[in-house]
Amino acid sequence: MSDNEYAELQLAKLRARIENAAHQAGRSPTEITLIGAAKQQHSDTLANFIQAGLTDIGENYLQEALVAKAYLANAKVNWHYIGQIQSNKTVNIAANFNWVHSVDRIKIARRLAAHATNPKSLNILLQINIDDEPSKAGTAITEVQELVQKISALETINLRGFMVLPKFTGNIDAQRGAFAKTREALEQCNQNLGLSMDTLSMGMSGDLEAAILEGSTMIRVGTDLFGPRPA
Ligand SMILES: *Cc1c(COP(=O)(O)O)cnc(C)c1O
Repeated sequence: MSDNEYAELQLAKLRARIENAAHQAGRSPTEITLIGAAKQQHSDTLANFIQAGLTDIGENYLQEALVAKAYLANAKVNWHYIGQIQSNKTVNIAANFNWVHSVDRIKIARRLAAHATNPKSLNILLQINIDDEPSKAGTAITEVQELVQKISALETINLRGFMVLPKFTGNIDAQRGAFAKTREALEQCNQNLGLSMDTLSMGMSGDLEAAILEGSTMIRVGTDLFGPRPA
């Protein structure tokens, strides 16, 4: 099988999973954006997948992202920053990405807002530490509403919703629980603060079905799309 055929096959498999889960949830699969989580993948792999129809790429590391962006300069791709953010990287993140999924404190949001070039063209998601794991980034669920209020007041960025990376579990009901909590937090913030956030970035290779059942609008898939990450 050629690299191009592999990319087409993998994308078709992912699309079938998205369609099945959306169908089960009574949703349209067009509501769900597939983001290729690109960490450690070679730029030519990304190029093959883009040629096969992948439209969105997620990057965890700025340096890796800049290499991929230079290689793929002519590709029409939406770029998503999904990794942890150091505040000295905010200038370059604001300049190189359409979406930032991993904002978890006001200082980072303010810096991105200060560096955003076109008003409201930088889309922001607040990362929530939904299972209260000490090892993970993200805002505590108890602090989400206050932070949403502050970030939504920043005029140069566009707060669109939440991102979560729940604790690993193979049990679909447990997976759904964390995603449902995230969706409910979004609905509550919208209602209490009069907002219309519309994006839930939830679901990866192992739990995308559960996430789609609970309203995910963006799934970030690495392993089950590109294959295992190269060493
Ligand atoms: C690596 C990564 C993913 C994709 O994980 P897979 O299990 O390989 O699909 C999604 N989101 C984030 C933030 C990641 O770092």
